[in-house]
Amino acid sequence: MSLPRPHFLVLTFPLQGHIAPALRLARRVLAVAPDVLVTFSTTEDAHGRMFPAAKPTEHGGNDGAEEEDGRLEFLPFSDGTEAGDDARSLDAKIASFHAAGARGVAEILDALAARGRPVTRVVYTLLLPWAAAVARDRGVPSALYWIQPAAVLAIYHHYFHGHASAIAEHRHDPSFLVELPGLSPQMIGDLPSFLTDSTDPSDVFHSFFTTIRDLIQTLDKESPKATVLVNTCQEMEVGALDAVGAYDVLPVGPVLPSGDESGSGIIKPQDDAEYMEWLDAKPANSVVYVSFGSLTSMARDQLDELLLGLEESGRPYICVIRKDVKVVLAEVVAEMHGRVKNGVVVEWCDQVRVLSHMAVGCFVTHCGWNSVLESVASGVPMVCVPQMSDQRMNAQLVVREWRVGLRAQVDDGGVLRAAEVRRCVDEVMGNSEAAAEVRQMAGKWKGIVAEATEKGGSSDRNLMAFVDGA
Ligand code: UDP
Ligand code: UDP
Repeated sequence: MSLPRPHFLVLTFPLQGHIAPALRLARRVLAVAPDVLVTFSTTEDAHGRMFPAAKPTEHGGNDGAEEEDGRLEFLPFSDGTEAGDDARSLDAKIASFHAAGARGVAEILDALAARGRPVTRVVYTLLLPWAAAVARDRGVPSALYWIQPAAVLAIYHHYFHGHASAIAEHRHDPSFLVELPGLSPQMIGDLPSFLTDSTDPSDVFHSFFTTIRDLIQTLDKESPKATVLVNTCQEMEVGALDAVGAYDVLPVGPVLPSGDESGSGIIKPQDDAEYMEWLDAKPANSVVYVSFGSLTSMARDQLDELLLGLEESGRPYICVIRKDVKVVLAEVVAEMHGRVKNGVVVEWCDQVRVLSHMAVGCFVTHCGWNSVLESVASGVPMVCVPQMSDQRMNAQLVVREWRVGLRAQVDDGGVLRAAEVRRCVDEVMGNSEAAAEVRQMAGKWKGIVAEATEKGGSSDRNLMAFVDGA
């Protein structure tokens, strides 16, 4: 009997910042391994937003859209969510997500086996700690796809292996320096926020903490070593990758889109002709691009300060203000009495396209890991405005390790003031020596990550080794 065809089931948590890198990895695997099949699976709700025209199937899910000659199939898993569940607390939703999601994924594995397309490897993202156990029950090996930097994985690993009390003890002292094996000393305030924010079990952030704890325990149970693909490259994170030697770690990134991916997320871009034409008319490296990702919400006074600072910088800018935040935009613009002159405000854009545009010279970012990787790969220097989760650590890497950006300071109320926006943008785009150095480093790192991901580069070789072993 011949061996079954290699078939990866890629499972991801239903957020834009998780779906994008997971789908990019799926497409990358298909590109390097002509024999492999991939089934891509997130929740029915997120799937429905990715494919608004999808129809229900007998699995209770949506129609599995297909790409790449049938080698890539989309099949959502049920997480038990019913219409009308929006009224439940986020906490209740997360609890039922984990229980029902595990059942939903088991159903998918069985359905694919019954269809003669058995899964040979499960690849799951970080908020699905139960995926490895579901796979193991079915005799299928699994790998975690870590979509944050290796440094953050190292911190979580150390936290749950002997360093929890040292961190918890100094939780309220943001400038206290923590020493963790293999990492440079980190300020408490820069650690992943789920470790220090809340110890109150009724707080929603606490559920992220317990999910990460479960994930690390899952990795510990794998024998001989858990396989972890990391969306980073060897060159970017030498020390941190060594610090997670407890796992079989394969840096395979940055995993970026190979072509247009505007239709494949859960948030749809507005017509990009408008802002792309606007960008085309601008000189090289003259435009500031501003985005705070798919989740960050912005208080009204913060939005005011940001737009004012951008205007005062005197440089053209393109600023993403998502629809859910934009309720106040018309109001802000009206109150500014037409002072918004130099910029374009969009609800959502094709960020990789914008960052690759030669007119863009600076990215004001919340430092979500995808945004950081996309900026480094495009050679665009950053102004870092981290908010939560891993973003402060990511900003440290940008500023201290690769020196491709600087960190904006917020005031005592946590607000980024207009003057600081202007100062930071000038410091990255102006004529000073420091600005020239940041731009030079950004160019250097663009070259390094391009080499890592090209054929024969470090990340490409790691991905090939993973695919060959499946
Ligand atoms: N993004 C986009 N258009 C926008 C803003 C963001 O395509 O207008 C994409 C961005 O390219 C990235 C993702 O959304 O891939 C955001 O992920 P990230 O990890 O940076 O932040 P998160 O949204 O998870 O906080
Ligand atoms: N717009 C802009 N700069 C601003 C505010 C709006 O370029 O400061 C653009 C925006 O991208 C949109 C148009 O003007 O294309 C109208 O925006 P508005 O928010 O006023 O109305 P809406 O788009 O919600 O109908």
